[in-house]
Amino acid sequence: MKTSYLKMPEMRPFWYFLPLAIVVLGINSFYLEPIWIVISAGIFIVMGSIILLNGVRIARLNGEIKIERNELGSIMANLLDGLIAYDQNFRIVMINKAAEQVTGVVAADVIGKMMTPEYAKDAKFTVLTQILYPSIAPSVVRRSEGGAYPQVVDMSFTNPTTELRITTDRIVDPNGVLLGFVKIIHNRTREVSMLKSKSEFIEVAAHQLRTPLTSINWIFESLAKETMPESQKEMVDMGVMAASNILKTVNDLLDVSQIEEGRYGYKFQDMDINVFAEQVLSEIMPYAQEMGIKLYLKKSANPIPVSIDPQKLGIVLSNLVSNAIKYNIENGEVTVEIEQQVEKPYVEMSIRDTGIGIPAEEMQRLFTKFFRADNAQKTVADGTGLGLYITKNIVRRHGGDIWAESQLNRGSVFHITIPTDPTLIPPQEMSFSEE
Ligand code: ADP
Repeated sequence: MKTSYLKMPEMRPFWYFLPLAIVVLGINSFYLEPIWIVISAGIFIVMGSIILLNGVRIARLNGEIKIERNELGSIMANLLDGLIAYDQNFRIVMINKAAEQVTGVVAADVIGKMMTPEYAKDAKFTVLTQILYPSIAPSVVRRSEGGAYPQVVDMSFTNPTTELRITTDRIVDPNGVLLGFVKIIHNRTREVSMLKSKSEFIEVAAHQLRTPLTSINWIFESLAKETMPESQKEMVDMGVMAASNILKTVNDLLDVSQIEEGRYGYKFQDMDINVFAEQVLSEIMPYAQEMGIKLYLKKSANPIPVSIDPQKLGIVLSNLVSNAIKYNIENGEVTVEIEQQVEKPYVEMSIRDTGIGIPAEEMQRLFTKFFRADNAQKTVADGTGLGLYITKNIVRRHGGDIWAESQLNRGSVFHITIPTDPTLIPPQEMSFSEE
């Protein structure tokens, strides 16, 4: 192994130095006294040794780098995800096999080429150019904040149907100087089609169930209005409750499948958030009274215009307020407060209750599908565990956020924010996979 290192170019300085040292020593032997000849020979031997050792060290390091580069090369070549590296001028530096397959290009045709958006006109390079310049791609959904790295976008192509998730990151040197970019292309076509067929199945099943369930619900409600012996009344009341619970579950499942496919269908309009909250709370007030809960609304000092889908955001507020009523104590209170956030383009709505609270260890699962806390299941038998998942998605679609604080047996506060600047609302609905 070592002999092969000695043949490497790093050893050249030593071989150049050796004849020079011999010539100088030869000349010295004519002109210098023996002691100086010995001293200069000593100096040459030390210098020669240093050059030789350095050469060997550099050769060894080079060997290691070569091995690492080969390993890295074979890892990148065999990655299932596509990888494209390019410099600041969009000159392709590297493209692996998976990226070749997904873009339909051959590495030899593009390596070293400066890819301008013009290349999109050439069918051979269309997909690659659109991946490099997402703004010219036909269907793009941004998954990360603009300007921040890594940037994540989802791209869809037809003929053949292809769903890609593309992550772009910067390549910088140790001093932070930008050298170029790398794109990781994850082909999600199979994942997306599986999610789609799962959602379609749920949607068809839910649709089929909804019609007969609505009839059953209606029949039980009509029956409950009739006069009948107490024992029968009890059974009919149970029927009313069961039918309305199943109907709620089916409707929630339909909402979830539409949300996850990105076709829940939003219609935004401008309105004062106080007027919106007043309307929702007036609809929910009879439920609060029936449950013996006091419901208060603290409006903001001034009107706050927002762009919202009142029907969808109505689902959010009524979910949060009905939870605050449902998981409350006898004679409890619920307060909805609306405030403009200080120096931020958001309005914050908080829904505070005096209820059973949420166990601390279960808080992180609060907004996931089918979550129901242990204490809630014991006190309120019915519930789908889908309400907060739907709620979170609707709030996100509005460009806002949701979070909660809670103390067991003391109460909970749910906060939602909605942007007051409409440019903060995502431009389009996204198909959604659980985070
Ligand atoms: P559901 O109410 O149908 O069970 P949700 O998704 O609306 O479904 O709520 C999920 C769970 O979160 C509830 O089952 C309950 O455990 C907890 N939760 C939600 N809101 C409150 C609240 N205000 N107080 C206490 N627990 C709550």
